[in-house]
Amino acid sequence: MKRILVIEDEKDLQQILAYNLRKEGYEVLQAMDGLTGLSTAKARKPDLILLDLMLPDLQGTEVCRELKADGTTRDIPVLMLTAKGEEIDRVLGFELGAEDYVVKPFSVRELLLRIQAILRRTQGQAVSDPSAILEFGKLRIDPQAYRAWVEGQEIQLTSIEFRLLLLLYERRNRVQTRAALLQDVWGLQADTETRTVDTHVKRLREKLGSTESYIETVRGVGYRFAADPKEVNA
Ligand code: CA
Repeated sequence: MKRILVIEDEKDLQQILAYNLRKEGYEVLQAMDGLTGLSTAKARKPDLILLDLMLPDLQGTEVCRELKADGTTRDIPVLMLTAKGEEIDRVLGFELGAEDYVVKPFSVRELLLRIQAILRRTQGQAVSDPSAILEFGKLRIDPQAYRAWVEGQEIQLTSIEFRLLLLLYERRNRVQTRAALLQDVWGLQADTETRTVDTHVKRLREKLGSTESYIETVRGVGYRFAADPKEVNA
């Protein structure tokens, strides 16, 4: 049974949604504010989150940002609920990593179709072998557990450093510009300070120790993960 978390402060709408979702066979979790929504998402790992944009405590955008910044919740698809006339910025929503949005008042039927479509899409993305551990020379990465080892010794990475490492690894042998990394790792617009990237790469390399040279600096452009561990003198 698919589990859906509804973060919505309007009681009537919350009830209508819960009723209809349960009727469709979904398990429904409910939160009336952003902080409760965040803690419920972390504790219960729903398959999808319906997220109202205007909440009494946190903004929906803030909730979305936090969900996407946390390794345990970032893969949960978010469908944003926005009211007509609200400061709805779809670009912002998508930049924050929301899958889709609907504008109130919406028909329940339309919403259910969107939910089905998202669940189909995100299930299709399920990694072929979720337990797969990535091995590259002296480096081991467990993408599910957010853990990494150098020569068998676990290294302690922050979630940003881990995402940075994983993304560079997944795109190895291809140069990643600082702007692209900012967008894909931090979810920030490219015009934000790109020095942030350099600072984090520096810290990540320090932690990588003997494997730091797996990440090469491409002068004036960005960074590149080596194509083959034999290619670098690590
Ligand atoms: Ca609201």
